[in-house]
Amino acid sequence: MSKAAIEIVGLRKEYGRVVAVDGIDLSIPKGAFVGLVGHNGAGKTTTINMLTGQLSPTSGAVSVAGTDVVKDPGAARAKLGTVPEHPTLYEYLSAREMIEFVTELRGGGDVQWALNVAGLGSASDRLIREYSQGMRRKTALACALVSRPPVLVLDEALNGLDPASADRVVGVLAELRQDGATVLLSTHVLDTLEKVADRVVLMEHGKIVVDGDISVLAGVRQRLREVSAMPD
Ligand code: ATP
Repeated sequence: MSKAAIEIVGLRKEYGRVVAVDGIDLSIPKGAFVGLVGHNGAGKTTTINMLTGQLSPTSGAVSVAGTDVVKDPGAARAKLGTVPEHPTLYEYLSAREMIEFVTELRGGGDVQWALNVAGLGSASDRLIREYSQGMRRKTALACALVSRPPVLVLDEALNGLDPASADRVVGVLAELRQDGATVLLSTHVLDTLEKVADRVVLMEHGKIVVDGDISVLAGVRQRLREVSAMPD
């Protein structure tokens, strides 16, 4: 396996007769910020879930910083910070306690910095079960970022954040990237990518149909408007 931050080779996932991811290849070098875009059902979440070890591929290989995710999911996860589409949090902890817990699990991190990233203010000490969806997502993001992992894989992680919070998180991602982190962010908000990404990958029907530097974003935007989302 290569030492790219993320290396995907011939990755495929079938759900019965549905081919969610259809044999994709993707190599992301260390320090890149890549936006993953596509219509609903294009295969983004399925790809990300195989990348983070939450889902087994039907075939193909995927590695994170040189570690095979299928063969050694624990070691791969140690190099990853991830926010899944539907984050799972401990309802009877506060955001502060949840972040402290994750920091301990991951062997270190700056809890106060992560709390500032979340920007929950005094709500940081309330139980997560009382949080709104946006507050939950901020907590999940803070948990993913607290240990400053070398590779960040974020599935629609800015969804539901108010504009000021989204801007703050985007700023933090850019800062982490400047420190050498690699970021893969799936999103439907192309304006966000314009600010921070240097590469954009478009998926359609389980395949990668565009993979180019950020200058292709205008064409991608147009294609997303024009091409039908669902298979014929
Ligand atoms: P969105 O932008 O709506 O989140 P996506 O690009 O993340 O979409 P996926 O969630 O990866 O798309 O779905 C890709 C395809 O796989 C879709 O056709 C979807 O119906 C199918 N799919 C996803 N999960 C399952 C599942 N658990 N069982 C069966 N089919 C599934």
